[in-house]
Amino acid sequence: MRFFIHTYGCQMNVRDSEAVAAMLEAAGHEHAAAEQDAELVIVNSCTVRDMAERKAVGKCGNLIAAKEGRGKSRSARSAAEGCVKVVGLMGCAVKRMGADVFKSLPGLDFAVGPRRFGMIPRLVERVLAGERRILELPDADEVPVGLDAHPDVRRGANGFACFQSYVTVLLGCDNRCSYCIVPDVRGHEYSRPAREVVAEVASLAARGVKEVCLLGQSVLRYGRRNPAWGECDAPSPGGFHEPFPRLLEALNATPGLERIRFTSAHPGGCTDELVRAYRTLPRVCRHLHLPVQSGSDRVLKEMGRHYTRAEYLAAVAKLRAFDPEFAVTTDVIVGYPGETEADFEATRSLMEEAGFDNAFVFKYSPRPGTRAAALPDDVPTEEKERRDQVLLADQQRRGLERNSRLVGTVRKVLAEGPSLRNSARWSGRDSGNRIVAFEPKGQIAPGTLVSVRIVEAHPQILIGEMQESGCA
Ligand code: SAH
Ligand code: SF4
Repeated sequence: MRFFIHTYGCQMNVRDSEAVAAMLEAAGHEHAAAEQDAELVIVNSCTVRDMAERKAVGKCGNLIAAKEGRGKSRSARSAAEGCVKVVGLMGCAVKRMGADVFKSLPGLDFAVGPRRFGMIPRLVERVLAGERRILELPDADEVPVGLDAHPDVRRGANGFACFQSYVTVLLGCDNRCSYCIVPDVRGHEYSRPAREVVAEVASLAARGVKEVCLLGQSVLRYGRRNPAWGECDAPSPGGFHEPFPRLLEALNATPGLERIRFTSAHPGGCTDELVRAYRTLPRVCRHLHLPVQSGSDRVLKEMGRHYTRAEYLAAVAKLRAFDPEFAVTTDVIVGYPGETEADFEATRSLMEEAGFDNAFVFKYSPRPGTRAAALPDDVPTEEKERRDQVLLADQQRRGLERNSRLVGTVRKVLAEGPSLRNSARWSGRDSGNRIVAFEPKGQIAPGTLVSVRIVEAHPQILIGEMQESGCA
């Protein structure tokens, strides 16, 4: 069957979709270029905020309407012009909704929770044999199959560039922050064996991948709940003892690989060894996505984040101490239950002190079953919106300020391809994950490392001139 996967949510969902695409291809199905050409359409859902879940479920509803020939909405009509025969829902919303998913979506053929995506090829077979409404809900400790399935990287499945790849290293989360549904739907922490990760990255690099991004909800906890390094693995040449820096060291030695990134992080994992890994391993990019959520100690405590404002700022200072250009990005929640104007101002001032290179701001959304959901959602929507706008405006100014300091520097940029806004320009990213646009000189291929001298700074982008020398 020709299939298409719609992905909502985080990088881990993008990665799970990619693995499903690879497994479907291995089972003889064919990736369709567009939804209209697909007979099997799968929606990979997110439930971290209410709106995210609604979008995925709504999309699925439209596809089912199209499948049943009763499409009314624009997107259902466009799918109805196509040939959809089977509709499946996967990912976090399935685990949250459980069997209720079929109350909202009676025409759904199968629904499969996060750690069971490896069953999808088999579920498709069962649907084709006549079964309907199949539900697969994973247990919190399940180890998925197919974690290392990658589609033909030369083609770049699901819109992801062919020289970059996500690699899941840590599943689930045990942090249980008060507002967050992720531990309920993605289960307990499980670290994949280091040897498996090293082999996967080596195989990707051998197929032309230049950059990997290691994924985990709290990725610096790699190897903490279950051991990731077996007895017989060689000791660390650089004397690293902590599992995650040790993994970085092993991956840094991968032939052909240029860059290693990872996300997301908790300040508790910003140890001296991690800093030493950043400092001494040349392929490890100097960027950390370190969600802070709030700058108010009172709110941080209520959220159960297990750090104070001062501890968070100390982690940032530690990362920037050896490289002032080290990029730190963050996530912030505005309008958490009981968040006062003073709490909000504390978040504002923390963001200023931390000097974030980029920030994602989320309006608090109560999630069923979380501790915070029992508290009144008492910050009015308009006030959440105002706080969101204030933080975004601050970040625009701060982004420009921070980027302006880089004018005149020469940066190594992994060229991605023609920029979306201006096809005469190419864009890529520097080690700090900053977007850099430049006019290419001569023939360059996506995935080439080039040297670019920065001539202009904007809040979210740097403009530069590619150096004559070409390759960095
Ligand atoms: N594991 C990551 C975050 C995963 S969720 C980490 O802890 O670093 C991504 C982001 O969504 C979070 O950082 C948080 O800012 C936001 N988020 C999570 N639950 C939310 C909720 N209930 N309402 C609003 N934003 C939320
Ligand atoms: Fe959610 Fe907190 Fe775990 Fe991140 S660390 S996934 S915010 S519970």
